[in-house]
Formats: sequence, C-alpha cells, structure tokens
Amino acid sequence: MINRRALLRAGIMAGGLLAGATSAGTAVLAQTAQRSYDTAPDQRPSTPDQAWATLREGNRRWVTGTTTHPHQDAARRKEVAQKQDPFAVVFSCIDSRVAPELVFDTGLGDLFVVRTAGQTIDPLVTGAAEYGPAELGTPLVVVLGHQRCGAVTAAAESLHEHKSLPGELSTIASSLRSAYTRSGGDVDKMIRINTVDVVNRLKKDKLFAPRIAKGKLKVIGAYYSIDTGEVTRLV
Ligand SMILES: [Zn+2]
Repeated sequence: MINRRALLRAGIMAGGLLAGATSAGTAVLAQTAQRSYDTAPDQRPSTPDQAWATLREGNRRWVTGTTTHPHQDAARRKEVAQKQDPFAVVFSCIDSRVAPELVFDTGLGDLFVVRTAGQTIDPLVTGAAEYGPAELGTPLVVVLGHQRCGAVTAAAESLHEHKSLPGELSTIASSLRSAYTRSGGDVDKMIRINTVDVVNRLKKDKLFAPRIAKGKLKVIGAYYSIDTGEVTRLV
C-alpha cells in the first residue's frame, strides 16, 4: 500500500513539474517528466479549464469530421506503459454511440472512463470516479448525459406504468425515480435533470469537495447529441 501510494505521489510530482517547476534542484526530474510528453502534439492539460478546453476542441473535431485520433499509436502505448496521468474523468452512459474517447477525439492514457446505464451512480461507481482526482490529481470530472438514452427511456416507461423492469434493471429505474418525478414524464428533460443530479452529488463527495474549493478540480455536466455529435455544457 505504501509503495503503491509512493508511486502515485511520484506521478503527481511529475505532473506538477511538467506544469512549470523550474528550480535547478528539480531540473532532472522535470526533464524526465517532459520527455514522456515529447511525442505528444499537445501538453497534458493541468487545470480544470485547460482540461475542459481540450475536450471541447476534441469534440469540435468530432462534430466537424476533422478528428486527428491523438495518442492512438504504438509510441503512445509505450509512453504510458509505466505511468498514466489522464487529464479528465468522463462518466457517461454505456450506450454504444457515446464512446468518450471518440466523441472527445482523445486516445490512450488521456481519460478515465466510467460508464453505467444512464450514468446512474452508487458508492461503487463514485469510488471509480474518485480514483483519478484523489490519487492522481486529475483536474476535471465530466458527467455526460445523452440524447435518446435507452436506459432513461426504459426507466421512465417502467415508472410511468408502475411495472418493474427485470433483474437489476429495476435498480437503474429506482435510481432515476427522482429525476423522473421532476421531469413530468419528459424523457429528454429527465436525462438532463439526472445528469445535473449526478454532478451535484459528486460535488458534495468528501474527496472532491476540498479539491473543488481549492480550484484544483471541477465537476461539470454535459449533454451529448447523438444526431450532431456535439457536447453541450449543462452545468
Ligand atoms: Zn444512455
């Protein structure tokens, strides 16, 4: 445990140095950290706003059909083989049409991706989202809802008809009950409400709240259009 944490701390240090440390005492370490990003056309974003700007630029390329597929070659695989330092956590739906690495035009080692049906959340999922910001200093969490979400639609129908979904699908519907009630039965509204609910829940997270207060982390909500490919910020 101690060794693992020490390694993680080393990862954080390298990230910090990359962000601009210049003292002679840290020069060697800084060079080591710098080298690991030499092959990248861009530098790893180190602030919440830089991280969001990078995702927005990638999404713009996706929308306009000008994707560059960064960090998707053997060199990148080698580069991140010993250490990862993703710049964002994306928490999205399992929907096959909403793959975060594709819609943000990113690659290997760029994102932590957490996916559940309708981006519903529980403690296990929260733990997965916490990992990057708490252990590696990842500066951004994006909760990504999407148009025509099948999970939210099925949950809305089940709640409307008072008919339980089979198996654990009923757990998903329960998790969306509050959003359903406040949406008045409008599925698209329910998708957006649920996304914002998850953002608000994560903002109160014990590990996240102090980082947010210090400006080291932002948790934002966004909506993905299946039709256009565009990601729009909700909150
Ligand atoms: Zn969905």
